[in-house]
Amino acid sequence: MAEQVVAAVRTAPGTTELREFPMPDIPDDGALLKVEVAGICGTDVKMYAKPPFADPVIMGHENVGVIAKAGRKFVERHGMGEGDRIFLEHYVGCMRCEWCHQGEYRHCELTDWRTNPDARRYGYTSAMNPYHLWGGFAQYLYLPWNAVIHRVPDSVTPELAGIVTPMSNGIEWALFDGGVGYDSTVLIQGPGQQGLSQTVACKQAGASLIIVTGTTRDAARLDLAKTLGADHVIDVQAEDPLDRIREITGGQGVDVVLDCTSGAGVTPVLLGIDALKRRAGTLLIQGELASFPDFPVRKLTEKAITIKSARGHSYRSCELALAQLASNRFPLERLTTHTFGLGEVDRAIRAVGGEVEQDVVHVSLLPGE
Ligand SMILES: [Zn+2]
Ligand SMILES: [Zn+2]
Repeated sequence: MAEQVVAAVRTAPGTTELREFPMPDIPDDGALLKVEVAGICGTDVKMYAKPPFADPVIMGHENVGVIAKAGRKFVERHGMGEGDRIFLEHYVGCMRCEWCHQGEYRHCELTDWRTNPDARRYGYTSAMNPYHLWGGFAQYLYLPWNAVIHRVPDSVTPELAGIVTPMSNGIEWALFDGGVGYDSTVLIQGPGQQGLSQTVACKQAGASLIIVTGTTRDAARLDLAKTLGADHVIDVQAEDPLDRIREITGGQGVDVVLDCTSGAGVTPVLLGIDALKRRAGTLLIQGELASFPDFPVRKLTEKAITIKSARGHSYRSCELALAQLASNRFPLERLTTHTFGLGEVDRAIRAVGGEVEQDVVHVSLLPGE
């Protein structure tokens, strides 16, 4: 094993440098992961352009790899060791609080970099912290005793495992938060990796109507949405989406609206409120906006709408996502459109942001290439 680990480090806004870190000495309760695939999502685009703090960070929070080295206690605790392929949650939980006991590591204070300067979250944590290797854009990652890992079934390739995160978000947001199930009617706004994963989750759960919206430049993604189970797709630049949704639903509106757009401002929320059924629909929002001028709160209460926030995934949704991938029921490999090597992190993130490349759905970094 090499003595040095090469990692792509975010050193300033929109800037990446390759740096070397010493190969960590693994304690008895820790392990080392050889990163195979690090998925990139819209959050990376934002964090890359405007880092929340100045410390160097190895980004990459959607990580899959093979355990290269594991201490005795780590193996005992996790039931996994050298040679096992795992999906690693980016939350490193305290394992003591009520959230951790529920498998809701996303809510644990130890994982919350916004409120806790000592938080541990892969892809977000400073590389100045002990062991340094806290992100997936690197040859190796450090796994402490409290890393949250899931075994990747043998039938799932590393490439396919790269979309566990969007798939688990799809299950979490559409099914657990949105309550989509048998005979539900759903509007999914945005046909990116997230919207397409929600489409599969909704289809699998038994939704009777799935409508996916996108823009003119999303033509290929909208076609893919149909392949994955959308009943209707709408190009919001070519036709009025609300008119079309009313036409499709016979004026009834839909049960659930899932906002999977990125940087679309207030528009998807306003459309969602109007597109929901007369009473008691559910709206899942991304909450990228710091404020929402003229928010139609009266319309919201008159329609008795419930708002849910899109916020990561639980242990259970990761397990279900892996099972979904292992089932091969949907051609999910068609989501994995672009891959880049460790030296191309900057380009890979810009591809997700739509600055370079075309027809991008999901981008993976393969640090071994
Ligand atoms: Zn992500
Ligand atoms: Zn906790």
